[in-house]
Amino acid sequence: MTAQVYDLRDEDSLMQPALAAAAKAVSLHNYFIGGALFDSAGHLVAQAYGATVIAGEIFHGETQLAVLLRAGRASGVFPVDEWFTLVTTLQPCPQCRQICIQQKKLLVLYGAPTPTSGAELGDLLETYTNTEKRRIEENDGQPVVRPANLSAVVRQQCVEGHRQHRNPVLRVLDEVSMGLMPFTDLLELVETTDPTVIPRIRAFQDKRRGERV
Ligand SMILES: [Zn+2]
Repeated sequence: MTAQVYDLRDEDSLMQPALAAAAKAVSLHNYFIGGALFDSAGHLVAQAYGATVIAGEIFHGETQLAVLLRAGRASGVFPVDEWFTLVTTLQPCPQCRQICIQQKKLLVLYGAPTPTSGAELGDLLETYTNTEKRRIEENDGQPVVRPANLSAVVRQQCVEGHRQHRNPVLRVLDEVSMGLMPFTDLLELVETTDPTVIPRIRAFQDKRRGERV
């Protein structure tokens, strides 16, 4: 099997695995929010979905993928000096945005704007922290979090998908939260294209833990 190589300039195509992850999220009673991580050659590294309902409030797809990138770089599984691209169907929430910005050489492209962001939240989202300023310098002065360049059709899939599935989730959120699956590990639900990635990260982590005792 030959792995598909994505053209990083074709942001419609980059959005496709993110949309697929969002569809999976909905099938598992979560919001329609999905993300995909690509390496600098255009290989799909991993997909993740916002598992807020089934796993807990911090299980946002962007956070899971940023944690994968960080852990993978620390383990030597991913290169430190290459750019990665994280594509998400929905504008990241403030905490995911910050977690992404804390990663070096990570570009974040989103589909739909956050429907709940009013002017005040919008201002907050646009606030450049010192970390973000460094990231922007690394990216030749260009923003590191920005809307994807999408065709109207694909953008509408992002917007409508979230809109259609949002209210039913909101209605059951408290009820379902009572029965959260006991996940505590942010890499538990990430689907990597290469199945050896997470075992290699685990092996590195276990080794380092062993060295410390
Ligand atoms: Zn988030």
